[in-house]
Amino acid sequence: MPKRRPDHVPMRTCVACRQVRPKRSLTRIVRGPDGAVAIDPTGKAAGRGTYVCDAEACREPRRLADAVNRALGAAVEPGSLQLEVTDAAT
Ligand SMILES: [Zn+2]
Repeated sequence: MPKRRPDHVPMRTCVACRQVRPKRSLTRIVRGPDGAVAIDPTGKAAGRGTYVCDAEACREPRRLADAVNRALGAAVEPGSLQLEVTDAAT
């Protein structure tokens, strides 16, 4: 019988550093049905998604583009995915 934890927090892996973190602290990046890769602030856009954490190193454009391309089979140019270094934590 599977254990159910009432305080279960959904976890996801950062595409760049591979650290597992609470989903809410990650930003979703989605490759839509049209193949376009975009930041998904709602976390609900259709398509294949991956997640990146808020570490500055993981938002470095080249590293992020490489990781996203690997994960989603996309061909994103470094710099076309601009993630702000978050100030949401303030
Ligand atoms: Zn990361």
